[in-house]
Amino acid sequence: MPEGPEIRRAADSVEKALKNRTIIDISFAFEQLQGYEEILRGSTVTRVDTKGKAMLIRFDNDQVIYSHNQLYGKWYIRNAYTYPKTNRQLRLALHNEKKSALLYSASDIEVLKNGEEEEHPFLSKVGPDLLSEDVTPDDLFARFQEKRFQRRKWTSLLLDQAFIGGIGNYLRSEILFVAGISPFSRPIDCTEEQLYRAAKACIDLMWRSYENKGITNDPALAEELKKKGKKRYEYRHWVFNREDRPCRIDGTEIIKFRAASRRCYYCPTCQKNPAPS
Ligand SMILES: [Zn+2]
Repeated sequence: MPEGPEIRRAADSVEKALKNRTIIDISFAFEQLQGYEEILRGSTVTRVDTKGKAMLIRFDNDQVIYSHNQLYGKWYIRNAYTYPKTNRQLRLALHNEKKSALLYSASDIEVLKNGEEEEHPFLSKVGPDLLSEDVTPDDLFARFQEKRFQRRKWTSLLLDQAFIGGIGNYLRSEILFVAGISPFSRPIDCTEEQLYRAAKACIDLMWRSYENKGITNDPALAEELKKKGKKRYEYRHWVFNREDRPCRIDGTEIIKFRAASRRCYYCPTCQKNPAPS
């Protein structure tokens, strides 16, 4: 499943194609949405936001197209009325004079009115979006210590979109590694220093992945490994997808296990929690 950084990059490309241009045509595959085609035709896209793994295309007539790609949705940007070769089903097409933004395979598409986000079943519950909202390490440090979160295991907490929007499976393993936190612990088991490192890691890795096309490893190290001829999967991450490989810090074998029914990776020597006294 694409994670926050991938969704934000898709939103950037949709925004680049559509922003400040008039929609000359739009079509929805789902019958219940086709009534909106006439409402949106002739309107102008003002911006494209993300909220966790959801995308919001905002129009100058107070309409908002909400889409959530789940596992399969994929955006394509093409010159106007040009279509990619794909077996996917076209679900939403937005055209202006220059470009077409085409959403394939997604089934979770709605049209909202500006402000209706607050009552929306997903949007009203999703936690802070680290790429589009001004969230500081101090904000997250406080959030980790809230009663509703502090006794939950990190492995389920980090995937919970109500905790932080946009963290998915690879970011979960990478954040815990960079923070030096055992994946079997909870916020309440951590020292203040670990919690602060986790807060910084959430923000830093989300941005690093967004700016470096999914790379969460140290960018200089990734570049060095790439120059040595290593493949993307070999230099992309600290621990994710690296079972039985040596830890990049201390050489310990990386361990893979399942948590919340998804694969999780960690270094047993770098990621330890001192027993709270
Ligand atoms: Zn290690």
